[in-house]
Amino acid sequence: MSVKTTCAYCGVGCGIVATRTGERSVRIEGDPEHPANRGRLCSKGTHLGETVGLEGRLLHPMIGNRRASWDKALDLVARRFRDTIARHGPGSVAFYVSGQLLTEDYYVANKLMKGFIGTANIDTNSRLCMSSAVAGHNRAFGEDVVPASYDDLDAADLIILVGSNTAWCHPIVYQRIRARCDAGAKLVVIDPRRTETAEEADLHLAIRPGSDVALMNGLLAWCRDAGALDRAFLDAHVTVPEGFWTLADGDLWSTARTCDVPAADLRRFYELFAATPRTVTLFSQGVNQSLAGTDQVNAILNVHLATGRIGKPGAQPFSITGQPNAMGGREVGGLASTLAAHMDFAEGNRAIVQRFWASPTIAAKPGLKAVDLFRAVGEGRIKALWVMATNPAVSMPDAGRVREALAGCPFVVVSDVMADTDTGAFAHVRLPAAAWGEKDGTVTNSDRTISRQRAIFPLPGEAKADWWIVTQVARRMGWKTAFAYDRPADIWREHVRLSTYRNDGTRLFSLTGRASGGNADYDAMEPFRWGGTPFADGRFPTPDGRARLVPVTQKPLAAPLRDWPLTLNTGRYRDHWHTMTRTGLSPKLARHREEPLVEVHPDDAARLGIANGALARVATPQGESLYRARVTDAQRPGELFVPIHWTHRTSTGGRTGLLPRPLADPISGQPGFKATPAAIAAV
Ligand code: SF4
Repeated sequence: MSVKTTCAYCGVGCGIVATRTGERSVRIEGDPEHPANRGRLCSKGTHLGETVGLEGRLLHPMIGNRRASWDKALDLVARRFRDTIARHGPGSVAFYVSGQLLTEDYYVANKLMKGFIGTANIDTNSRLCMSSAVAGHNRAFGEDVVPASYDDLDAADLIILVGSNTAWCHPIVYQRIRARCDAGAKLVVIDPRRTETAEEADLHLAIRPGSDVALMNGLLAWCRDAGALDRAFLDAHVTVPEGFWTLADGDLWSTARTCDVPAADLRRFYELFAATPRTVTLFSQGVNQSLAGTDQVNAILNVHLATGRIGKPGAQPFSITGQPNAMGGREVGGLASTLAAHMDFAEGNRAIVQRFWASPTIAAKPGLKAVDLFRAVGEGRIKALWVMATNPAVSMPDAGRVREALAGCPFVVVSDVMADTDTGAFAHVRLPAAAWGEKDGTVTNSDRTISRQRAIFPLPGEAKADWWIVTQVARRMGWKTAFAYDRPADIWREHVRLSTYRNDGTRLFSLTGRASGGNADYDAMEPFRWGGTPFADGRFPTPDGRARLVPVTQKPLAAPLRDWPLTLNTGRYRDHWHTMTRTGLSPKLARHREEPLVEVHPDDAARLGIANGALARVATPQGESLYRARVTDAQRPGELFVPIHWTHRTSTGGRTGLLPRPLADPISGQPGFKATPAAIAAV
């Protein structure tokens, strides 16, 4: 029998038809009826069937290295959290969760922490992915709303990709972009690296890392001077702060110098944009993962707002997320900086959510964001930590420090699919979670389409769904009624009701009309996009209904340091995902890149005696790791690129998490992975 479900990997959110062919085998095909992919799948999705075996799975609760019953393990988790809160207060505990969780999982974890424990110390690995986009949307629109849909790509005449190797990281979206370009649309790629995506662009601007604000402010000035602003839209729908236009100085040549690109290319880009009303600017981690990520997002949104390229078919800014359910996490409020259902911590919102949950308390203010959260663990301020479905001992910046923090934490719980992970090695209790193919719930992709993930296999061993695990702990902590869910549909209906509760339309996030059905309706749910076409009527979810231009200025770009003269950038490979706990199981996927490479420009390689194919050591003030060198002029001189996927557990090299600084954008808290001062030496 075939099951309609959703891919486990990226934020494109492709629909899959999965046909079980054996006890643990499945045939995977693209769902021709799913709006995100219309039947297509990339290499990762196609080979999902190779990753559903039970090799390496955690199948029983573990206390230390001993197998334990669920009752014993859950009692212990509940007791240790309860005791820690009683002795040190709610702020002494934290959850670190994941964009791999389903929305229902996310919802109960967020509810438990913010409404019942009473702190907002729940953050997510989505902090590392798109929190600058969240902050930018909030500043410009008043709410974290992605206005675009994939259909806009089909209607655009110009597509700009900023900080996104879309061909590798969101391949099905890229296929859609290519199809549109084959029909005549132009493609501009803005990325320091000449990626596979950039190779196929009409124009590639290999800008200096971190110069995005200068580039977009220059574009804004160009549009103003070229008469390409939408004055009527600005007057009717956008608040322009006093002095805003002085930020855009309009000097093409100084902008070209700041961005380190030819002025002629910059002019071509600006002219193309000014002349093309139907423009989509799609941005991703290259924009978000910066110490000025929020400003970079707002620089893009400013241009779209000022030219009226928003809320119209083919004219949109488009933040595309990395993970399969980063958007679902945003919708339930599963970030330390949001409360629930797109509400912040304003007094009125806190009252709404507390009343709805009938909870004994409600978090008073934002909690610790990922970098600060693990710093607090290291400083002993967090004394009980629960990590769900993610691997921060590898993926956090300055991962060596995170490992030390985990080692010193009095109580660490890890719920995960795999038995042997870098983070699990520090756990006092490990709880076996359901994997893709066993989970049942919903996810939201990058264009706000909510789809069902459905189980193909029964739960193996004693594995349980994440929502069930959290619910059981909550009940043991004393909150039986509030967590009396029997199945994900119960949680979904509550989530839907909260989205509409005391919502007179000022909050755009609303799932109105989706809660009335019973379990059968939930089981049969078809993909749908909430919110229609936001901003099409020119109204924004701010108190006055107007969007806001946000004054942002280019920060001075640091000169190279004597001991760390290079700039290190990090990113994904096409056929691997995160820390490879799933893609590492597929022999076919492993063939694309069998080992971690450091990409280095030929001039730097020659100067430092690094041969193509030889081993090289990449070092930063935080740590060092080995890579095989790939000498390529796709890199800018003075810059290095390494992949994020290899771990302590799987490799002696490629431990990229050790290298970036534990520094974050001051507004969004998103770490700046893309520009770390570094050095490289031949081995
Ligand atoms: Fe899965 Fe993303 Fe590939 Fe689609 S594009 S099949 S969601 S990895």
